[in-house]
Amino acid sequence: MSNITFTMIKPDAVKNNNIGPILAKINDAGFTIRAMKYTELSEAQAMAFYEVHKERPFYGELVEFMTSGPIVAAILEKENAVEDFRKLIGATNPTEAAEGTIRKIFAESIQNNAVHGSDSDENAIIEADFHFSKTERF
Ligand code: GDP
Repeated sequence: MSNITFTMIKPDAVKNNNIGPILAKINDAGFTIRAMKYTELSEAQAMAFYEVHKERPFYGELVEFMTSGPIVAAILEKENAVEDFRKLIGATNPTEAAEGTIRKIFAESIQNNAVHGSDSDENAIIEADFHFSKTERF
């Protein structure tokens, strides 16, 4: 599975009942779902997942947000998955995201921005392994 990316539908989008519409956009863009779970991140998991941001002023708030409710985690496959998915979700800050992108449509703010998408092939594999065992992938 080299052409994979990892995504999470974040707590804001789950609360706003946007799991279905976001998955529809992901399917329409040609991604195949290889693994999926509806779950909640523990504080330790959220801290580990966002460890690269631990020196940033928003780290505490981000961890609090990501543990504020359930998320949907998934492994997606497609040629050029990482780059194409970043294009589909749009810029981190929804005010800067292109029209039609998932964040433009569904995000509430720079933090509550509806979805996560891996930023490199290497991180996609690390993030997929963080959430899914081999027997949970199809
Ligand atoms: P991404 O790769 O587009 O998700 O963006 P980053 O890796 O830079 O940031 C990770 C996550 O931290 C983002 O998706 C947001 O949820 C959150 N975040 C990024 N920048 C800010 C910020 O300036 N303030 C706050 N509160 N959260 C932020």
